[in-house]
Amino acid sequence: MSLNEFSGVRPLFGPSGHSESYAAEGHVSTMDMPAWLAARGLDIFEYSFGRGVRISSSSAAEIGAKCDEYGIEMSVHAPYFINFASPEPEKAQNSVNYILSSLKILKCFGGERCVFHVGAQGKDSREAAFARTKDMFRRTLDLVAEENAFHSLILCPETMGKQAQIGTVEEVIELCKLGDNVYPCVDLGHINALYGGSLKEAGDFELIVRKLLDGLGEKKTRNMQVHFSKIQYGAKGEIRHLTFADDVYGPRFEPFAEVIVKYGLTPHILSESAGTQAEDAAVMRDIWKSELSLKNKASNA
Ligand SMILES: [Zn+2]
Repeated sequence: MSLNEFSGVRPLFGPSGHSESYAAEGHVSTMDMPAWLAARGLDIFEYSFGRGVRISSSSAAEIGAKCDEYGIEMSVHAPYFINFASPEPEKAQNSVNYILSSLKILKCFGGERCVFHVGAQGKDSREAAFARTKDMFRRTLDLVAEENAFHSLILCPETMGKQAQIGTVEEVIELCKLGDNVYPCVDLGHINALYGGSLKEAGDFELIVRKLLDGLGEKKTRNMQVHFSKIQYGAKGEIRHLTFADDVYGPRFEPFAEVIVKYGLTPHILSESAGTQAEDAAVMRDIWKSELSLKNKASNA
């Protein structure tokens, strides 16, 4: 396993996908990414399967070996087509297969965490759609449990940014209760977009952390997966991902850094900025560091 040595000790920071600067410097394949991130003092990388699991096991193993060499930990994002709420058995079954094929490549990367979008409400009531989701996800967890190679892996249902999608904080907590290997992926940009800009002060972020602590306890809350980016929103929620240059939509990272330090959280934090993921991940790391040194100064005074 290529797990970061500081996992569980301090928050980890990194990009989701390739930054524009990575391509601009002439890099094409993810093979160079571990060295590139290590040179920038970053810890983690999320590989998105987007429209399908297309990378071979052998390429993934080569990237995994580079991760080992440079101390970078990888997670994967399962394909966007997953819909555990689908009333069509074939689509629901495909969703299970997307998870299993994502885990197979995750294992080759030497990583531990697989993030996924749960599904969409569709024409049914929220309750009916969520009941189906829970049922299909439970079946997926049974299949994961049958495969020895998958025993060390963690599944992370993500909080979503549009009303039509399943994945409020409360729904994600319910799904995480279904297995010891299910941890929340808390996308704070999505939550802010879903509720029209609800995350402003440290107290707004703290409310979410307290919900997670109440529902899931300390271990899963401290070590949650976090997606953080500024996101434009409208009446139905998320519209598009922005960069940290935005000062209209938010959320800002500073108040969340306060909460991380206050509660001693050690999340894996990925930037999903539009093109500046690695740069904005480094900005978040620096904000967290200065928040931590402020606190240390205060407690030594
Ligand atoms: Zn996502």
